[in-house]
Amino acid sequence: MDQTRNPNPSNHSSKISSSSRLLVLQSHLSTQKPTMASEKEAALAAAALPADSPTIFDKIINKEIPANVVYEDDKVLAFRDINPQAPIHILLIPKVKDGLSGVSKVPEAEERHIEILGRLLYTAKLVAKQEGLEDGFRLVINDGPSGCQSVYHLHIHLLGGRQMNWPPG
Ligand code: AMP
Repeated sequence: MDQTRNPNPSNHSSKISSSSRLLVLQSHLSTQKPTMASEKEAALAAAALPADSPTIFDKIINKEIPANVVYEDDKVLAFRDINPQAPIHILLIPKVKDGLSGVSKVPEAEERHIEILGRLLYTAKLVAKQEGLEDGFRLVINDGPSGCQSVYHLHIHLLGGRQMNWPPG
């Protein structure tokens, strides 16, 4: 297994076009932070798309748009969330979607996915260590419209760097 931590996260984005950079810059400069309501709306809109539509994460995997990559191996990509909900907010995704839109939405997780599902969790631990989250962290999977999922390519949120509360919203 080619398990290479990306020593220079900026490498990933070095080959992207200037128009992609501009798009991302515009989204960064926007002062309108998504509200709880808009997150719900985004989740409902995403759920209405055909189950296996390509997502923004395909573009990140294919390096068509930049991402702040913190870890990469042959199966898993981890990059910083563009709208962080904690000082450290990283998304871990399988590089090959293989039908994993989420956990339960058809096409859904099946027995053949057990290896990649386990690997995502294990990689979350590696990345948490890499980020210095010795005191703990939170892993989240938003599944389906009720779970407020907005991108239908399975991903684990790794959140840390602040005290978490329970119950979550
Ligand atoms: P979810 O709502 O659980 O489906 O999570 C999707 C996550 O993807 C959200 O936290 C978004 O902020 C994040 N996201 C969307 N587009 C990008 C992007 N281009 N780069 C990094 N994170 C993104």
